[in-house]
Amino acid sequence: MSAALFVSDLHLCPTRPKIARQFLAFLNGPGREAQALYILGDLFEYWAGDDDLSEPFNAEIVGALKNLTEHGTGLFFLRGNRDFLAGEGFARASGAVLLEEPHLFTLFGKPTLLMHGDTLCSDDLSYQEFREEVRSQAWRDAFLAQPLGLRKKQIEALRKRSEQAKQVKPASIMDVNAGAVANLLQRYRFPLLIHGHTHRQAHHESNIDGQPCERWVLGDWFERGSYLACDEEGCRAAPWPPAA
Ligand code: MN
Repeated sequence: MSAALFVSDLHLCPTRPKIARQFLAFLNGPGREAQALYILGDLFEYWAGDDDLSEPFNAEIVGALKNLTEHGTGLFFLRGNRDFLAGEGFARASGAVLLEEPHLFTLFGKPTLLMHGDTLCSDDLSYQEFREEVRSQAWRDAFLAQPLGLRKKQIEALRKRSEQAKQVKPASIMDVNAGAVANLLQRYRFPLLIHGHTHRQAHHESNIDGQPCERWVLGDWFERGSYLACDEEGCRAAPWPPAA
């Protein structure tokens, strides 16, 4: 049986065309061979709203996703902090099924939990406050009621502020909080957790009350791409494009 693939944190944008091309090649390569592709957030550097689907860069990426789903690969999309405004319009255009987090399902017989990962960074209090505000329906409705051009300007300003804030935040604050991970694993007692967001690609193994638990952290697509492939044998991380 073919594998299920997981990616996150591609941060696709027109100013980084090489990564966009690599992602399109990924969709036409491993993506086509897979039974399902799970995108766990931050596919786009930002998403200003589904009325931006006709912008040429967005249209190319979303069109490629649609081709993949028409080919027969299942596509699942869990929103990240950069593309949390992706909605039903994006889902229809891409053929993706939108997932809410935490997404609980059975992956090749293994109870599995999927998240973007930003909620696990509970030490970053200012970010968590910001997240709570922008994820409210009231904020979303008010923001999306503004003209697209104005929304994009506001997002640019927010991104600049966030970059500046990151300069002065200790690295430890931007990683997951060990307690938040332990609480989550204790609550669900799932043997497999897959998330992204921190850009700290890793495979952590832990033991929760005698039960082994694997936590895979997906890598970003800044220097090069990577993905996680899971099947009956288990999961393994792979670089994209493949190592020469
Ligand atoms: Mn993120």
